[in-house]
Amino acid sequence: ERREKIAAWSGPARTKDGHAVQLLANVQDPAGAARAAQSEAEGVGLFRTELCFLGTATEPSIDNQAKQYRGVFEAFAGHKVVVRTLDSGSDKPVPFATLADEPNPSLGVRGIRTLRINDGLLSNQLDAIKQATEGVDVEAWVMCPMISTLPEARDVTRQIRARGLKAGIMVEVPSTALLIDQFMNEVDFVSIGTNDLTQYVMAADRLSANLADFTTPWQPAVLNLMARVAEAGARKGKPVGVCGEAAADPLMACVLVGMGMTSLSMAAGAISAVGAALSEVTLEQCQAAARAVISAFDDEQAQNTARAILNLS
Ligand code: PEP
Ligand code: MG
Repeated sequence: ERREKIAAWSGPARTKDGHAVQLLANVQDPAGAARAAQSEAEGVGLFRTELCFLGTATEPSIDNQAKQYRGVFEAFAGHKVVVRTLDSGSDKPVPFATLADEPNPSLGVRGIRTLRINDGLLSNQLDAIKQATEGVDVEAWVMCPMISTLPEARDVTRQIRARGLKAGIMVEVPSTALLIDQFMNEVDFVSIGTNDLTQYVMAADRLSANLADFTTPWQPAVLNLMARVAEAGARKGKPVGVCGEAAADPLMACVLVGMGMTSLSMAAGAISAVGAALSEVTLEQCQAAARAVISAFDDEQAQNTARAILNLS
């Protein structure tokens, strides 16, 4: 029965009582974007640009970069595409933007920090993104990964806005979640990366199978931080999305909507299941679940409480 409901679901996503939530796709290249465009996605919530260049030894020219970005924009013409600037390092070592032999790369020079290796990377990439939008009807938003201080946020938003693009940051480092009210003043939008936020809040490697009970976004500490980010966005009237794996879990997606997230971005294949789940619950149920999970004793209790309140088929 659940399977039939998922197959029959079509967007745009609404709760049972009509509350709208943007469901977006995570993509990594033009071919994948073309496939995702066949789904019910209303746009792209996370374009992982570094995955276009994993095998590239030297920094691609602005023209070469623009070609990749344009391919994704064209696949989603008429829609919103959130481009994430290079998140190199750690589990995604792009050769031209990664330090060799860091002892602890997930705590090292990755994401926006790679500007320390090559300070032209960001401005070149922003020029390429801008160039790729020319002549394409696309609403391009740009966000930077691994932002951890206010000066970083101020610097990148200035550079993004200088190209006439909407400027955001990912919230995936605890320092940013903790000072979220001040960060909200610097940006047009934020997107929570639950994979890294969980890894850094729990001090547990996201790739470690031994620590899977720690690296779940159902951990109450992670849920608390996400709720605070959503509330800060609502106070300032700024969009707050979630683009980590958590958004692809139908039960968690309902909780995130209850916290006040305005968009959820996930692998295109997960969109119908999340959309179908949202159509079964009211916003009030989602809000009740969101309130309950943040005072749970542990991840299992959080999940069980949400399950009981949301009662998905
Ligand atoms: C995340 O950290 O949740 C995220 C979306 O970014 P990535 O998985 O690419 O690090
Ligand atoms: Mg991340």
